[in-house]
Amino acid sequence: MSKAATPWLPLWPVRYKPLADELLSSWLIRLSHGMGLKVQTFCNLEFGNQRQVWNRDIDRFGPSWLIERLSQRTGTPLEVAHRTSLRAYDGILYRRFKSNGVLPWVLRLKMYHRTWLGHGLMFCPGCLAEDKEPYFRRRWRLALNTVCSRHRCMLLDCCPVCQAGVGFTRTDLGQPGQEDFMGQNVCHACGFDLRQAVAPPPGCLDEEAAAWLNQLWTEFEAGDFVPDLIEQLTVFHMICSLLTRRNRALHLAEYLGDRLGVEHPLTLQSWTPLETRSVDERHQLLQMAAWLMVDLPGRLGEARRAHAIRFNHLLRDFDEVPEGYRRIALSLQGGKAPAGEGFGAEHGREEHQDHDRLT
Ligand SMILES: [Zn+2]
Ligand SMILES: [Zn+2]
Repeated sequence: MSKAATPWLPLWPVRYKPLADELLSSWLIRLSHGMGLKVQTFCNLEFGNQRQVWNRDIDRFGPSWLIERLSQRTGTPLEVAHRTSLRAYDGILYRRFKSNGVLPWVLRLKMYHRTWLGHGLMFCPGCLAEDKEPYFRRRWRLALNTVCSRHRCMLLDCCPVCQAGVGFTRTDLGQPGQEDFMGQNVCHACGFDLRQAVAPPPGCLDEEAAAWLNQLWTEFEAGDFVPDLIEQLTVFHMICSLLTRRNRALHLAEYLGDRLGVEHPLTLQSWTPLETRSVDERHQLLQMAAWLMVDLPGRLGEARRAHAIRFNHLLRDFDEVPEGYRRIALSLQGGKAPAGEGFGAEHGREEHQDHDRLT
């Protein structure tokens, strides 16, 4: 965040503060509507035509000029305003922010002419129904998340009536003459009230894998950002990548589908990154990867012996491989798995006896 002095600007008459875990874009929309303006009109008045707000993913990029202005005009501490952007996850969910391509664990909006084509934003009907004023959460942009931990239901990533992606910014964009602002709970395409949607209970492929995932999410949500969490998330993301990568000799997703009794693995239907997939696909994929994570050396070793994966797949094309994972990968070079060792916080720090011998 820039510390440069900015000219004094008066407070807005409406000074809503961000709600719990609220996304920057959601906050901006509430402020616009609170002042009786369409969000585009409001942004043009406030930022001029030079600053384009809605042709990029402002939640991912978290432009400092926007966050600083909202902070200043609403009397919100800059730190609180900054936390509405996904940039607050820098160094927590991923090691380094990047402006192009896939940002690990951050769902892609797939924007096209200000229209959001993908499944990049999710919602929980129960959470929206409980809100005094429905709003969108930061955690609904995370690929790691598929379940509402409050309502124990699947999150939804499109309108159940018309299947349009939920994009609250479109609620009042490009609709001239509209007098009343629709709430963020209304589907922009068909007008369905998303609070009325039915969210099914989450499916479970394996109890241990589900418990592992739940533990990871609980640690993450609690904000206990222990140093090992980024390492764990990095390795977990690498395993997810192995499941979605196109390679003729790599059959890990098929193998896991067989092992876990998945009749029609959604993960096999296309070879796209986790961050552009539907919530149902991710839910299945995360559980398959979590099943491996429960005993990474043992289960990767089994997969290797079953010819579902080769040693060279384990490290190829990955940057900054965590040391704990590298040791596991190298230990599988000769086809053996170190017995009884899971991947986790403690193990990442341990000296692995076999390391020198196998390298
Ligand atoms: Zn909920
Ligand atoms: Zn709809």
